[in-house]
Amino acid sequence: MQTQYSILEPLDTSLDCSPSREPPPAPAPLPGAPVNNDAPPRVHVPESITCRTCGAIGAPVVGPGAGQHVARALCRACGAFVTWLSRYSPEEKHERRRLAGWQAMCGKEATPAQLAYLHALGYRGDPPANRAAASALIDQLQQQRRL
Ligand SMILES: [Zn+2]
Repeated sequence: MQTQYSILEPLDTSLDCSPSREPPPAPAPLPGAPVNNDAPPRVHVPESITCRTCGAIGAPVVGPGAGQHVARALCRACGAFVTWLSRYSPEEKHERRRLAGWQAMCGKEATPAQLAYLHALGYRGDPPANRAAASALIDQLQQQRRL
């Protein structure tokens, strides 16, 4: 069964892809704090790690980074390397990935599959401005179908 949406409110196809959606800049150093370009970069340290060498579980010792890695986590008990550390928490990493994906979709035209699916969902309006707008429109139409 096809559902027509012509009687509904016009859908918002103008999604905000402006630069304001970019991740916020790194926080500025506190006023009065010494400016030191050699200061160690921000690093997210997990509360607890498990050492594969000795099996100890606990807070890591933060060691120096290398190349692209900002720091390393070392076992507090035996000193063995456990894992590389990121400057971002898992939540921040997820958010950054989501934002990057969104921005990539903003720069591309809607796919033929998206347009076909929109048509199948009963959408007969102007083609969405980009891939992200098409995705949001599909979500919106699917939600309306479920109502
Ligand atoms: Zn260990």
